[in-house]
Amino acid sequence: MLKIHIFIHGNSAQKTKNLIIFFAIFKPMTDIFSKEQRSKIMRNIKSQDTKPELAVRKFLFSHGFRYRLHRKDLPGKPDIVLPKYKTVIFVNGCFWHGHGCKIGSGKRKPQTNIGYWLPKIEKNIARDKENYAKLTCDGWDVIVVWECQTKKNENLKHIFHELIEQKNANFSD
Ligand SMILES: [Zn+2]
Repeated sequence: MLKIHIFIHGNSAQKTKNLIIFFAIFKPMTDIFSKEQRSKIMRNIKSQDTKPELAVRKFLFSHGFRYRLHRKDLPGKPDIVLPKYKTVIFVNGCFWHGHGCKIGSGKRKPQTNIGYWLPKIEKNIARDKENYAKLTCDGWDVIVVWECQTKKNENLKHIFHELIEQKNANFSD
């Protein structure tokens, strides 16, 4: 018999959301949602303010940075934009954007419905690359923060080290 263990984090609203996500992704064969409903759910997930994203925002704010969010006019709709530093930040989920960490690869990847999620991940990776290239061409610095890196402040300090230095050098900010 197949046993599935689901760990649902967060408050009850998040739990409901996560449960919906789980079924939308891993149980498509059971037709709980129609294809259109599933697409809608996936779109919503992308546009919501995720916990990793909030962690990055909180970090930047506490270091005195002011930012804009989800600028639709820029390629890939970057999660956080620091116009003054001509920098865009993407906070990427390890699973859907194919990070090489424990979450993004190897053992933790579900072995069911690979045919469903693998092409999606590959597509995301290709699209990410394209967007980063476009932004770089337009003179933006692109910083990618992975979900797994947002759990420790130390990691964020390391990632934003140069930006913080730049800011400190500019006292008029
Ligand atoms: Zn990761």
